[in-house]
Amino acid sequence: MSGLEKRYEGKAKILYATDDPDILLTHYKDDATAFNAQKRGSIAGKGEINCRVAAHLFKVLETQGVPTHFIDCPTPNQMRVRAVTIVPIEVVVRNIAAGSLCQQTGLELGTAIAPPLVEFYYKNDDLGDPMLTVDRLLLMKLATPAQVDQLRAMALKVNEVLIDFFQRCNITLVDFKLEFGLRPDGTMLLADEISPDTCRLWDQGETDPNLRVMDKDRFRRDLGNVEHAYQRVLERVLAQTAET
Ligand code: ADP
Ligand code: MG
Repeated sequence: MSGLEKRYEGKAKILYATDDPDILLTHYKDDATAFNAQKRGSIAGKGEINCRVAAHLFKVLETQGVPTHFIDCPTPNQMRVRAVTIVPIEVVVRNIAAGSLCQQTGLELGTAIAPPLVEFYYKNDDLGDPMLTVDRLLLMKLATPAQVDQLRAMALKVNEVLIDFFQRCNITLVDFKLEFGLRPDGTMLLADEISPDTCRLWDQGETDPNLRVMDKDRFRRDLGNVEHAYQRVLERVLAQTAET
């Protein structure tokens, strides 16, 4: 990576500046964290798997009309992306109740959610990424009312495309987290990553509630075979093209 200036090192990726100020190089790491980095570890091969899964999903989304930051992958664990100013809101979409939703509402794990739930969280590790209301995020000036509408609409469109795509992979898309960013002209792009680290994915070929888990819950809950599960997601994703 010599010659490139490191801009930011996050929990899962390192951002490098490139010769072009509009383009960043993201390096996907094998580091794994959960529960706001209170649990730390490493998953062999994760960087490459997540980078390849994310690249494929960004391409699928682009063909379905969702603008993303994705440009290309110069190596299997590096992605060139359009530089954006990240909106500090994590947008979560839920199709099935799991995780914190169950803990905070008493809904049973696996309860179908229709229409899908869109939730906003403040992207702030020091505060523990608290859940936001629209009134709070407007108060904090994290986004304008028009941008809130756009975040919601884009997140629901991503959900529609990905539910369908993962269905063809024999995988149920339970929930996921998205980040969006603004180009200098105000255009909103889907940014960051979409991977087994940021989605809950259940194998439709397994009924056992632990065996079906193909995502970061395997790491969070010490279910074992994390790399293997991520690898299987990659294989199934790569076997599907954008169109049916
Ligand atoms: P974190 O520890 O904050 O989750 P990651 O390691 O996942 O960080 O990613 C590094 C950072 O890169 C994140 O803060 C993310 O918001 C940011 N980022 C993702 N895509 C872009 C982009 N296109 N332009 C600028 N920043 C980005
Ligand atoms: Mg992240």
